[in-house]
Amino acid sequence: MSSSPLDILALAAHRDDVEQTCGGTLLKMAQRGYRTGILDLTQGEMGTRGSAGDRAREAADAARILGTSWRGALDIPDGRVENTWDNRLKVVRVLREQRPRVVILPYWKGRHPDHYTASVLGYEACFLAGLTKLDPDATANDDSPQHTPQDAGATGNPHRPFKIIYATLYYDVRPTFVVDITEQFEARFEALMAYKTQFSDQEAGKGIFPARDEIRSRIEAMARFYGLLGGVTYAEPFLQKEVGLVDDLTLIPVKSI
Ligand SMILES: [Zn+2]
Repeated sequence: MSSSPLDILALAAHRDDVEQTCGGTLLKMAQRGYRTGILDLTQGEMGTRGSAGDRAREAADAARILGTSWRGALDIPDGRVENTWDNRLKVVRVLREQRPRVVILPYWKGRHPDHYTASVLGYEACFLAGLTKLDPDATANDDSPQHTPQDAGATGNPHRPFKIIYATLYYDVRPTFVVDITEQFEARFEALMAYKTQFSDQEAGKGIFPARDEIRSRIEAMARFYGLLGGVTYAEPFLQKEVGLVDDLTLIPVKSI
């Protein structure tokens, strides 16, 4: 039903997760002419500051800064992201509508249960989305997939992403590759700052929310650390489960000694 397929879709539990973990990469891909998208599983209604409506507007502003072609949010309860059949089907519908070639998921370990649950939920949805005989609209309230040979509907055409990669910034794990975001770092920071209810200097929740300068130095330190690993100024870390495939040894990037 939608226009052309997305090249890259980043999925995350909360609004502003993508901005923190892979926003620079999404912007870089958009600048190269790729169609990028963001799927937030929740709408942020449990946040200490601001309403879900505030966060929706802020998410739209951030998406504009990152140059994304599409952004959507599901209605999974904030703080209660569970890997249920119904939730997997919600993600399946989006995958079949947007048809991304690459999906960026959160890393599968972490401090926040919503983050690591979103990872497994996202992976399983990517698998299910490719099942020809699965009709997410016919089985939404059921416990088992049903066979629907005809009348598949808008989200009935199977689609499985070619590549799944994991954004690892929230967890202390060695990435398998980093993306150079030196050129995109400032815009990515502005995309995060678009969440004014979360990140501006204000009274509510002062103890848990650091001020803008503090956030900037933390974000810069992380980006510099991963940049150092890749021999560039700023980078974002990722992990792929597959091995890397090399065609020409002389073109492998990142200096050894
Ligand atoms: Zn989060």
